[in-house]
Amino acid sequence: MKRRIKALLGRAIFASRAYRPLFRNKAVIVLFHRIDDRYPGDPITCSTAQFREFCTFFHRYFTVVPFHVLIAKLERGDDISRHLVITFDDGYRDNRRAADELLRRRMPACFFIATEFIGSDRVPWWDAKSGIVSEWMSWADVRSLSDDGFELGAHTKNHVDLGVVSGAEAVEEIVGSARRLVAETGIPIDLFSYPYGRPHQITEENRKIVRKAGFVCCPSAYGGTVGKGNDPFRICRTPISPWHISPYQFGFEALLSQ
Ligand SMILES: [Zn+2]
Repeated sequence: MKRRIKALLGRAIFASRAYRPLFRNKAVIVLFHRIDDRYPGDPITCSTAQFREFCTFFHRYFTVVPFHVLIAKLERGDDISRHLVITFDDGYRDNRRAADELLRRRMPACFFIATEFIGSDRVPWWDAKSGIVSEWMSWADVRSLSDDGFELGAHTKNHVDLGVVSGAEAVEEIVGSARRLVAETGIPIDLFSYPYGRPHQITEENRKIVRKAGFVCCPSAYGGTVGKGNDPFRICRTPISPWHISPYQFGFEALLSQ
């Protein structure tokens, strides 16, 4: 189906409130990476306007909650109807400006940090491929997110593929990223998202390491809504990208993906 048709159908379903029963006991976790107007069309970059449009959509149609709240409700079997969690991965510098936008709107979010990227000039392969010079937050930026009430989570040290890396190296990447976050921010860290996030990009062995290390979740970076009783170590997250011509297209696709 064409994206424009999906966006039109989505608008009809959301504006008429017909979406409400369809999202009964369903939650959505969304994923952003970079919010920056300099790289239109880059698959992990949203424009500032697109980000604002999505924030308005989330606020209008969902109950935006911190990640810990969703996890606690899943564990208790509480109602999660139309709950939505906003997350960011990797630690791009523009995330601090995005956080200011969220603060103005009183919306919570969780920032998952690849700790060795922070304060560095590392250019990971996906940015190099697009000719982008990656810019990362400083540790002062990361601390300020926590001071402003946002959640922080670990995302490995070097953004390794946990479908490939194993054993002591995997332990160091997983546990070491949380250790660094705790050392730099002074707050306890128990949220984790695995890099790349497709089904084959984490082994069962590594998922066990995440669980044993004391984390409370291990979300993916691919499709689908979250249902009542879902395992927080296997929950889906939906990336927001230039593929979405409007939040209503995203909303319609979320309905289809259930
Ligand atoms: Zn990532």
